[in-house]
Amino acid sequence: MSDRVYFDNAATTAPDPRVLEAMRPYLDRFWGNPSSLYAEGRQARQAVDRARAQVASLLGAEPDEIVFTGGGTEADNMALQGVLLAAGASGSHLVTSAIEHPAILACCRQLERLGATVTELPVTSDGLVDPASLEAAIRPETRLVSIMAANNVTGTIQPIAELAHIAHRRGVPFHTDAVQAVGKMPFDMRTQPIDLLSLSGHKLHGPKGIGALYVRQGMELWPILPGGGQEGGRRSGTENVPAIVGLGQAAELAAAERSEEAARLVSLRDHLIDGILAKIDNAYLIGHRWCRLPGHICLGFDGQEGEAIKLLLQLDQEGFAISSGSACSAIHAGQPSHVLAALGLDPLKARGSLRISLGRFNTLDEADRFLEVLPRAVASLRPIGRLAKAG
Ligand code: PLP
Repeated sequence: MSDRVYFDNAATTAPDPRVLEAMRPYLDRFWGNPSSLYAEGRQARQAVDRARAQVASLLGAEPDEIVFTGGGTEADNMALQGVLLAAGASGSHLVTSAIEHPAILACCRQLERLGATVTELPVTSDGLVDPASLEAAIRPETRLVSIMAANNVTGTIQPIAELAHIAHRRGVPFHTDAVQAVGKMPFDMRTQPIDLLSLSGHKLHGPKGIGALYVRQGMELWPILPGGGQEGGRRSGTENVPAIVGLGQAAELAAAERSEEAARLVSLRDHLIDGILAKIDNAYLIGHRWCRLPGHICLGFDGQEGEAIKLLLQLDQEGFAISSGSACSAIHAGQPSHVLAALGLDPLKARGSLRISLGRFNTLDEADRFLEVLPRAVASLRPIGRLAKAG
């Protein structure tokens, strides 16, 4: 697998070796229960406290504002259900967008079954929520606004600060699903009017099955996992200490390396975008050209509608791990993407899209190899004529 090129960092990222090194002692030696009062327990507790401080520091938050969760999906559910159950779901209103991850949208469907109403804001053709549409959607009974920081399919970054200000002006708390954005964009809860923020370990070179919800002091939230009272009563269950330590280490690395790494990814991304658009004349970029995550590219190919699965399997054979833009999981393969539909792409076009997402371990050499392989792969799918430019 060593000559494989992994270009699907929006799906998951390789754990950083420094993360694995930090976790190892908590798998084989320090396996105490953080709730125990004796030395083994205190050792585990200290590790959890340190990780909490590391995550808080990445967000400019206080440690007691961080709740560890079993991943991004759980953090999203904790935010939406937690706020709406505390407010009384029946009769409450929630505003979100049409392009959210299923962790948000499926949770909304559940809240609707409990009597809540949900407004899904539309997006522009490049994937942006119009702040005026949020202003118009808020009602007296609106209890929460939840808009993602950056989209997992298109990579488009939302004007989060502006949207959060609108919610606050109307007295409504603001949640953001920042699973794709944390570690790639700066966050500072001291200056950003965000009340709840979800993140996930495996999207920032940390372990899977661990995440966190930032909860601003004073927010009222019902626990969705009541039980033994861990995590300040917000998320019961014995803590996954090794994973928490791994997330802490991943957060510390992200804080130290983010700005330099983001600049490197932007230049790698733009090298790829420019190269692809120059070499393949039916290729087009999906999502906003500039309000875009540093390492994220979503592409369509005119005239090759519905061919993404064939293309990604061919690229797989050539050694490249790349996702289709329409279905980032085998579970949903063949289903049209609700995100691309919301951008106005017809279902066939959406099924022809590719998502290339770069991460910490990708290199210029890998990008150049891809620029050689992709035009050939696209041309080989073409039923009539050869549209790819020579070279
Ligand atoms: N939100 C977004 C935007 C995501 O991209 C993902 C994962 O792809 C999730 C939430 C879910 O995170 P997790 O896989 O940690 O449950």
